[in-house]
Amino acid sequence: MKIGVDIDGVLADFQTSFLGRATKIRRKEDIIDWPPYFGPPARYDMTDIMGPSFRDEVMSSLQDDRDFWVNLKALKGISLFKRLCKEHKVVLLTARTALRPGVMHDVVRDWIKATFGVILHKDCGIVISPDKVVWMTSLDAYIDDNPEVLAEVAKKWPKTKLYLRDQLYNRKKIDQNPLLEYDRVATFDDFARAMFGEPHWHSTSAMESTLSTQMNDNQVRTFSTGATRDTEVGKFDYEGFLSPLVLQRFAAYMHKNREQKDGSLRASDNWQKGIPKDAYLKSAIRHLLDWWLIHDGFEGRADVEEALCGVLFNAQGYLLETLREKK
Ligand SMILES: [Mg+2]
Repeated sequence: MKIGVDIDGVLADFQTSFLGRATKIRRKEDIIDWPPYFGPPARYDMTDIMGPSFRDEVMSSLQDDRDFWVNLKALKGISLFKRLCKEHKVVLLTARTALRPGVMHDVVRDWIKATFGVILHKDCGIVISPDKVVWMTSLDAYIDDNPEVLAEVAKKWPKTKLYLRDQLYNRKKIDQNPLLEYDRVATFDDFARAMFGEPHWHSTSAMESTLSTQMNDNQVRTFSTGATRDTEVGKFDYEGFLSPLVLQRFAAYMHKNREQKDGSLRASDNWQKGIPKDAYLKSAIRHLLDWWLIHDGFEGRADVEEALCGVLFNAQGYLLETLREKK
């Protein structure tokens, strides 16, 4: 079979590397709408996150930066790439516009060599063009992380079987092209398994893909109703690690402290805008002293629950700032 594979968002983790570069140029706090959580952005187009001019600024900083492209992080679940190249004719297609096409061509080969330890066979084609679909020849199957590209392929090559690599940012887009037919796969390896005719995780249901939050494992659970979900293996057990009673008390503490001197309420996530680490430490020590006093039978500024919530809040805030520094 002749199989087309998009690179960024399917094999390479372009978004994470791109956002990493963005934070080298500007502080995260100064990037509009920086997601308050950690993990990949929920939107495909980073213009939404950082505004068009800053996005272009970051993009132009990558124009001649060969190292950035050679060192792009790899996504998880790409171990079957090598076998796919052996058993089928693979064409890599990318809309990258950085570097000169010839240089980018070499960069892709270098990246494949560094990531998979293989030298691309000369039969393995590489298409580098913003109009990659225009240059695309007839394919039996094609995988991309952008539903809009799949729609273009469907128009040009209606017989090509289409696959969408599941990403947080393409889960809602499914609704925009209700007539477009494709299989959603959790990883590149699931796509490869489909090419080998082996069992794999896939879903064409918009509802299922919206509800499913994590699809990185290969194992699948089947419920008595026939519904399937991936297993819990290797995932954090938040339900077991956290107590709803403690979370409820902490929320009550946080709610109480939302009230400002003039009687108005501050936003619940106001603290996530950033508080200096030494402010957290100083406050934690005051609450810790209350805890200690109460524990030893003396009086603190408030009861022990308040003191413990204060320690928890400051520890959490300090932890958030520390994690942000690493990103
Ligand atoms: Mg892509």
